[in-house]
Amino acid sequence: MNKQDEIQEVTEIYGIDIEEKGISRMSLWHNIGSVRGKCGHKHHTISGLMKCWIEDQRDCEKMGGYSDRFPRKIKWDEEE
Ligand SMILES: [Zn+2]
Repeated sequence: MNKQDEIQEVTEIYGIDIEEKGISRMSLWHNIGSVRGKCGHKHHTISGLMKCWIEDQRDCEKMGGYSDRFPRKIKWDEEE
């Protein structure tokens, strides 16, 4: 599976709304999990968000675990 297909599949599974040029420009996203915590970024493109998320999953898999991080929209009033 290539990167594009992988991103497509992930976004379909999780119902992430993609516009032609990425996630809505007004939205910032990050990957967050109760165990792994926040990824520490503010993603404004679907490709950046998915790349970060997939890489985190892979890093955890390499160590025999898994990541509980999940793509989520950052709330406007949310702290860093
Ligand atoms: Zn990130």
